[in-house]
Amino acid sequence: MTEYAFAPPAPATVAIAGETARFPVRRIFCVGRNYAAHAREMGKDPDREPPFFFTKPADAVVDSGAVIPYPPETSNLHYEIELIVAIGREAFAIDREAALDIVFGYGVGIDLTRRDQQFAARDKGRPWDWGKAFDQSAPIAPMHRIRDGQHPTQGRIWLSVNGQIKQDADLTELIWPVPDIISILSRSMVLKPGDLIMTGTPAGVGAIVAGDKVAGGIDGFGEIAVTIGAPVAGSSRVA
Ligand code: MN
Repeated sequence: MTEYAFAPPAPATVAIAGETARFPVRRIFCVGRNYAAHAREMGKDPDREPPFFFTKPADAVVDSGAVIPYPPETSNLHYEIELIVAIGREAFAIDREAALDIVFGYGVGIDLTRRDQQFAARDKGRPWDWGKAFDQSAPIAPMHRIRDGQHPTQGRIWLSVNGQIKQDADLTELIWPVPDIISILSRSMVLKPGDLIMTGTPAGVGAIVAGDKVAGGIDGFGEIAVTIGAPVAGSSRVA
């Protein structure tokens, strides 16, 4: 039996709608610029180039209902509402026609983004990690298991800040639909149970500050609500 120098952290998990069991998170892949209007608002051409990916650490997940401290090293924190795909079976280089067979379920989440850090990295050709992969940067609502082969191909996806609608689109606007995303991603990685894919955000992203209440949802796949809290206080002492 393996001995550890200290107790390993508990697995990161997200909730499953209607169940007490939780979905253990292995990795989080995120698709960049997957809605044309959002690509344009980011100053990019929405031509159908192959999708590109970035990642967040598994332990960036946080449940709906959380108060998320305003993150450090930014003055431009953005929300991005997204359809989340949860992978339930292993696959490598799977065809798009078979790709949905490995889906465990779907949910809604927010790709919190330090936009100033992301743009600084983008402009210098550096990695996006500091803009995307910070603590508690992936609030995710309970996953909905696939029932009766129902996969979301259409439906409203929306986000509000303090009750005011900021993002309002439809899943039909995805440049790369879920089967394509899974198939393409699986050519680069062996996908395994526990992997999550954040599929990109529609137009209307913007800044949020401490005290803001952020809500969102996808028709038939749940809703999410989080509050942005005060920044975490620094300390000169080791915790
Ligand atoms: Mn995103």
